[in-house]
Amino acid sequence: MRILVTGGAGFIGSHLIDRLMTDGHEVICLDNFYTGHKRNILKWMNHPYFELIRHDITEPIRLECDRIYHLACPASPIHYQFNPVKTVKTNVVGTLNMLGLAKRVKARFLLASTSEVYGDPEVHPQVEEYRGNVNTIGIRSCYDEGKRIAETIAFDYHRQNDVDIRVARIFNTYGPRMLENDGRVVSNLVVQALKGIPLTVYGDGSQTRSFCYVSDLVEGLMRLMDGDYIGPVNLGNQDEYTILELASAVQNLIDPQAKLKFEPLPQDDPRRRRPDITRAKTFLNWEPKVPLSEGLKLTVNDFRARIPSPLKAEV
Ligand code: NAD
Ligand code: UDP
Ligand code: UDP
Repeated sequence: MRILVTGGAGFIGSHLIDRLMTDGHEVICLDNFYTGHKRNILKWMNHPYFELIRHDITEPIRLECDRIYHLACPASPIHYQFNPVKTVKTNVVGTLNMLGLAKRVKARFLLASTSEVYGDPEVHPQVEEYRGNVNTIGIRSCYDEGKRIAETIAFDYHRQNDVDIRVARIFNTYGPRMLENDGRVVSNLVVQALKGIPLTVYGDGSQTRSFCYVSDLVEGLMRLMDGDYIGPVNLGNQDEYTILELASAVQNLIDPQAKLKFEPLPQDDPRRRRPDITRAKTFLNWEPKVPLSEGLKLTVNDFRARIPSPLKAEV
């Protein structure tokens, strides 16, 4: 099959491309390199089944494909808040263009949506039926509301134009290839510990997240794409940790003496987050396999190879 991956040079997209290429598909990677990088897909650059197109999805594009994994959109708060109007355009105009493309070529279209559609949730753990608690005018809204309208457009193209859609709601995902300056909590804490500087904990660190290792997530995306279930479906790990617990896991792995530095909690930061993955288990026969302890080790080793560190030993 010929498969288009938008945002394919990014963190999740490049791991997905590794799987698709290994499975023998023809892959077109489309990316504007805002947060993605060529080094993530370097190993496929001369492969006859691989094609890289530098393109911004807010502009229309014509090409032929059988399937579209639509991942293009900055995912980390510091990056999506750097140019929030652009984030809105990417989610709205960009998703519209990719759905227009899917309609024209009759491709199956998978949207990488997010747990952020639930906002600061009043229902815990989050089930797909929950409609969310999102601020429409806050600093996270460009992303949260952007993804909500992206879901709406996908379902409207499905109902109105018969586009074959899949919608995944991805929860916090981590792993090798996250950017050093990504700004999300796992990469921040690991990079800080490796550099021997204090680990930044926002607020009092009692807020929770549930961290999914990237290989598990990619498996979930592929099962959703290959199956009959449209979604929306939560994809994430159910093990929930406070940020303080995560910080102490990082300390244990890298440097038990590492200090914590408390900083203000950002506006609209969700208090608790954990997916209910009953739908994914039922319809995709999927659940995560990699526990945080194991996934963190793999992530730390990847960062060690990239960051000059006073603490060199492998974990
Ligand atoms: P990422 O920032 O590493 O990847 C996004 C990619 O999209 C980058 O390569 C970037 O250059 C590209 N991109 C951004 N805007 C673009 C545009 N206008 N045109 C073309 N390319 C563009 O992020 P990621 O963590 O790999 O996330 C991938 C997708 O998964 C995103 O849609 C994100 O919203 C979603 N998601 C991720 C997480 C997570 O925890 N990583 C959680 C929920 C949802
Ligand atoms: N589009 C695209 N590539 C295609 C087909 C459509 O980029 O192969 C864009 C198109 O330019 C439009 C959007 O997708 O902005 C929505 O397309 P659709 O056909 O649904 O709407 P229309 O073009 O009729 O407004
Ligand atoms: N966070 C933190 N220290 C950091 C980065 C983030 O304590 O250096 C907190 C952040 O306030 C949030 C949680 O960790 O409560 C997860 O943040 P991230 O940006 O990784 O993801 P999101 O908030 O989008 O789930």
